[in-house]
Amino acid sequence: MTPLSVRFWGTRGSIPAPGRSTLKYGGNTSCVEVRFGDEVFIFDSGTGIRELGLDLIKRADGAAQRGHVFIGHTHWDHIQGFPFFVPAYLPKNKYTIHSVKSIGESFETIFRRQMGINYFPVEVGDMSSQLDFNHIDTSPFEIGDVKVKTSFTNHPGVNLAYRLDFEGSRSVVYLTDHENHASFSGDSELARRQDRAIEDFCRGADLVIVDSQYTEEEYELKKGWGHSRWKDSVALGVAAEVKNLALFHHDPTRTDDALDAISSEAQKIATAAGSSAKVFCAQESKEHVL
Ligand SMILES: [Zn+2]
Ligand SMILES: [Zn+2]
Repeated sequence: MTPLSVRFWGTRGSIPAPGRSTLKYGGNTSCVEVRFGDEVFIFDSGTGIRELGLDLIKRADGAAQRGHVFIGHTHWDHIQGFPFFVPAYLPKNKYTIHSVKSIGESFETIFRRQMGINYFPVEVGDMSSQLDFNHIDTSPFEIGDVKVKTSFTNHPGVNLAYRLDFEGSRSVVYLTDHENHASFSGDSELARRQDRAIEDFCRGADLVIVDSQYTEEEYELKKGWGHSRWKDSVALGVAAEVKNLALFHHDPTRTDDALDAISSEAQKIATAAGSSAKVFCAQESKEHVL
């Protein structure tokens, strides 16, 4: 079986949160690396992608690099690290950047604009690697032996969740910037159907990386902001019978102590509900072999 591993390079939502109280779970914004044999798949290019880029260069040891970057949407915490992704500046490298058409403008235009002269000294065009922008919708597609499925999430603007299925035997879901439908709009037939669709999207996955930004109290003030209460995300993982559930997109105010407490409470809730899933808060630099 081809080796498959997942490493978190940025677990934070909204804005980087460096400092002494976030050393364990990390302060970088969203970036996750999935390694399948020699292939590299990257979810989002928040500030965590800077260190991933340096590590990729070290690992390549002078060889050309290929990779796929899946961007959920273009909110800052998901794209702001890309200008610092050094492999994109090396001519022999090639990256395909996948995302959905955004509202009004193309994903590529928005992505390029963050490197406009008023924001950054170097333009995307000055990155001398080959960068291919692939505008996708919810039609499944394949990259070699990997099947890619997408789903829209409940988030202001347009956002995609991704599911990668490897050789038909293992699967990873990246579902961040998503708000539970029933929590947002109240219990209704429609909300239940929408939540069931997300549940089916996650069904049986080996690892689901899921938006868990808010506590109950915070959610009352931030309903409609496009993020979930972590307890809703645990319930989703249990219902979808996932094997590993990584709570992700941590609120910038969430300290290591708070995340330790959420990890253990979340695991207890899942176990008490009859799930055998391993539930934990995603930790920067940590690698998970699947
Ligand atoms: Zn976000
Ligand atoms: Zn967002």
